Amino acid sequence: MSSARIGVYPGTFDPITNGHTDIILRATKIVDRLVIGVARNIGKGPLFSTDERVEMVREEIAHLAGTEARQRVEVKAYDILTMHFAVEEGATVIVRGLRAVSDFEYEFQMAGMNNRLNANVETVFLMANDKYQFIASRFVKEIAQLGGDVSHFVSPRVLRRITARFASNGKKKVAAKR
Ligand code: ADP
Repeated sequence: MSSARIGVYPGTFDPITNGHTDIILRATKIVDRLVIGVARNIGKGPLFSTDERVEMVREEIAHLAGTEARQRVEVKAYDILTMHFAVEEGATVIVRGLRAVSDFEYEFQMAGMNNRLNANVETVFLMANDKYQFIASRFVKEIAQLGGDVSHFVSPRVLRRITARFASNGKKKVAAKR
């Protein structure tokens, strides 16, 4: 058996924000290999398709500081139970980011349920960096949709995608009205 510690960081990443990227970088310090699991999550009605979300996460990994860490990170889409995905990947750790108060109840419950499903996989929480504490993909989308500046919350690459998405959505709406 290999002794490499494998971790899975699951999420919707719709889109990936600076808060997510910070968690990814920090998670590479506690696991040897990190698999970022991009959940298909059709139920959440994502703005970006699964392929786009995977692509955006990959682009951010390519820009991560430190080549060494970059080489230990992989990105995969999944549509099974997160615990099953973790086991398939050979992970012993599920990494989650925890923002003050807002995330606690949901994450606490989820970690408890996952522990009942499989006690061999431990959920590990990394406290959100105070710089990124207030960043949430949902708000980034809402602000951008209404023309607000989200450049402090996402990378320039993600910003270009969001801007393009809302520009084309706007055009579609105008076209539909005609
Ligand atoms: P989900 O659909 O599971 O909520 P998200 O893509 O929104 O997935 O988030 C994935 C993980 O990243 C969650 O653990 C979430 O709490 C964490 N996270 C999201 N935004 C931040 C942030 N700004 N700082 C730290 N962790 C975050």
